[in-house]
Amino acid sequence: MKYDVIIVGAGPAGMFAAYELAKKSNLKVLIVDFGKDVSKRICPMEKTNVCVKCEPCNIMSGVGGSGGLSDGTLNIKPDIGGNLYELMSEKDAWELVRYVDKIYVENGAPKKLYEATSSEGEMLSRKAASAGIEFIQIPQRHIGSDHTPEVVASLKKNLEHNGIKFLLSTAVEDILDGELKLSDNKKVKTKYILAAPGRSGAPWLVKQAKKLGLKIRHGPIDVGVRVELPGIVMDPVCRINRDPKFHIITETYDDFVRTFCVNHRGYVVKEVYKDYVGVNGHSLRDKQAENTNFAFLTRIELTEPVENSTMYGESIAKTATTLGGGNPLVQRLGDLRRGRRSTWKRIDRGQVKPTLRSVTPGDVSMVMPHRIVTNILEGLERLDKVIPGVASDSTLLYAPEIKFYAMRVEVGKSMETSIPNLFVAGDGAGVSRGLIIASATGVLAARGILEKEKA
Ligand SMILES: Cc1cc2nc3c(=O)[nH]c(=O)nc-3n(C[C@H](O)[C@H](O)[C@H](O)COP(=O)(O)OP(=O)(O)OC[C@H]3O[C@@H](n4cnc5c(N)ncnc54)[C@H](O)[C@@H]3O)c2cc1C
Repeated sequence: MKYDVIIVGAGPAGMFAAYELAKKSNLKVLIVDFGKDVSKRICPMEKTNVCVKCEPCNIMSGVGGSGGLSDGTLNIKPDIGGNLYELMSEKDAWELVRYVDKIYVENGAPKKLYEATSSEGEMLSRKAASAGIEFIQIPQRHIGSDHTPEVVASLKKNLEHNGIKFLLSTAVEDILDGELKLSDNKKVKTKYILAAPGRSGAPWLVKQAKKLGLKIRHGPIDVGVRVELPGIVMDPVCRINRDPKFHIITETYDDFVRTFCVNHRGYVVKEVYKDYVGVNGHSLRDKQAENTNFAFLTRIELTEPVENSTMYGESIAKTATTLGGGNPLVQRLGDLRRGRRSTWKRIDRGQVKPTLRSVTPGDVSMVMPHRIVTNILEGLERLDKVIPGVASDSTLLYAPEIKFYAMRVEVGKSMETSIPNLFVAGDGAGVSRGLIIASATGVLAARGILEKEKA
C-alpha cells in the first residue's frame, strides 16, 4: 500500500497535522503509533499516584500522545510551550494558536476560558512587578486528566470520518528513502514523512537524524522541586489564571527561575525511570484535592566544554534517588531553611498533608547543587510577596523535578528538514513543549506539505 503522507506519532502534533491535511486535501494519510487507542490507555498511576513504567508507557504513548492522559491545560499563547515567534510574525502566530484552540473546543475542550480581566491581571502584574517578578498573562483552558481522553477520542473519530487511517501498536523503526520500515518488518511507501514522535520517541528521532545527516542541537533543562501547599493559599491567583506563570531572576546567581505546571487542587505524582525517580503533578476537573502543587524550576543550559545538559540533570536525579532509597525526597521548606532533614513526625505535625506518601523525608540540599537550593529559597521568598503563604515553613518541597527537552532538529518555517519531503513537528523534534504549540507545529508541517503539493 502506498500513502501520500505517513505521520509517525498520534500525539497532538501528528493528529493536528492529519486534521489539516484531511480538511484541505484528498491526500492518503496514515498515522502510525506504537501505543494503544485512547480508550485502552489506562494508567495505574491514577489509583496509586505512582508510575510503574508500563511498556510502552500509557502516559506517553498512544492515540493522543503524552497529551492523551495529561492535565490538558491549554496555554493559548504563541510563546508558551515553544516559540512560534521564531517562525512567523506575531499576528500570524496568534492566528495559528487561536485556530488550534478552536479545534480543541470543537472536539470538547471546555468553552470556559481562564483569562485575567484587565483589572485583575493588571493588579497581579503590578504586585508581582513590585516584588521584581514578571507575571505572564496567559489565556487558558483546563480540560482535566479526567476529560482529555474524550477530546482525543472525538478528534480521532473526526479524522477517521475524513479518511485518515491509524496503525497502532506498531513502531516505525527506520526512515528509508521514500519508505518506512515498521516493527513487523513490513515496509510502507510514502511521498511525505512527518516525524512527530514526542518525548518518548525523541531518542529514536535523534538516531534517525544522525543517520540521515540532519543538524541537531542540545536544548536546556529545568531543574528544581515540586512545591505543595494548601489550596487556599493559591486559590486567589488560580482564579485569575488556572496555571499562573511567574518568572523570576534570582538575586545571587542571576538565574531564570519559574513556576510551571500548577496543579490547582491537584496531586503530586511519582515518576519511575530506568535509573532514577522523579516527581510531577496532575489535577482532575471533577475531583479536588486539599492542596495545590507546582514545579519551581531553574533553567540550565550548558555551553562548553559540555553541552549535554540532559546528562547533568540525570546525574542530579540519580543522586536524589540514591539518597531517597529509591523514592523521591520530601522536605518542609522550614527544615531546608534551618539546614536539617525532615522527618515524618515534623511533616505530619505541619499544615500541609502530602498527597504523595511514597517519598522519603530528607534534605534537598544534599542532592541539589547549592546554586539551585539558593534559587529555590530566594525565589520562594520573593514569590511569597505576591502569594502570601507560599514560603511558609510547612510548605513541602519534593525532589527531584527535572524537565528534559528533546534535541532540536533544524527546520525551515514549514517544519521541513534539510531532506526534501521529510518534515518534523512537536516535542520530539524540540520545537515545542506543550499541547498548543505541538499541535500548531503539526498544522505548520501539514501546510508545508500542502504547499509542496500545489507547487
Ligand atoms: C504527564 C504529562 C502532563 C502534561 N500536561 C500538559 C498540560 O497540561 N498542558 C500542556 O500544554 N502540555 C502538557 N504536557 C505536554 C504535552 O502533553 C506535550 O507537549 C504534547 O503531547 C507533545 O505532543 P507531540 O505530538 O509532540 O508528542 P506526544 O504527545 O508525545 O506524541 C508522540 C507520539 O508518538 C509515538 N511514537 C514515538 N515514537 C514512535 C515511533 N518510532 N513509531 C511509532 N510511534 C511513535 C508515541 O507513542 C506518542 O504517542 C504534559 C505531558 C505529560 C507527560
